[in-house]
Amino acid sequence: MAQRKAVYPGSFDPVTYGHIDIIKRAARIFDKVIVAVAHNEEKHPLFTIEERVALLKRATKTIRNVTVDDFGGLVVTYVKKKGIHTIIRGLRMISDFEYEFQMALTNRKLDDSIETIFMMPHESYSYVSSKLIKEAAVLGANLKDFVPSYVEKEILRKIKK
Ligand code: ADP
Repeated sequence: MAQRKAVYPGSFDPVTYGHIDIIKRAARIFDKVIVAVAHNEEKHPLFTIEERVALLKRATKTIRNVTVDDFGGLVVTYVKKKGIHTIIRGLRMISDFEYEFQMALTNRKLDDSIETIFMMPHESYSYVSSKLIKEAAVLGANLKDFVPSYVEKEILRKIKK
């Protein structure tokens, strides 16, 4: 039987418990999930692509059917190159909806054979965002409820530089 595969693309700058929650949920539905880190240099990420990939690999190492990769350019081009037709995105709040809706429809226009599926995280992660976590870290917040300890350590190392 054909394997059901999906790509979960994003910046993951860095990975949070919200992303990990979505990855775990997706791994229960699909035979194989590729978490794909977008190069996104125009977003001036705090972490390099290699660092973001390494943190995600560590976060997902116990989930057998998840792999981590990176990509540049259009997500639809990457997904198609992998022979996959499903994109997963997380929806936290209504505020995510407009952007995600636009992107899903743009991707559909670019390639009608690719479907975007939205998944909701556990409610305790619905307000967690990489951006706010980085801002909170600069102000000295404890990040233990938002990211694994090794991610917190890396954030602190970066912002102290
Ligand atoms: P991007 O720059 O592509 O939005 P992000 O790393 O911010 O990259 O997010 C990747 C995907 O994960 C997006 O679909 C986003 O909505 C989702 N996401 C981010 N944080 C969470 C969270 N706490 N819970 C669920 N989904 C999330």
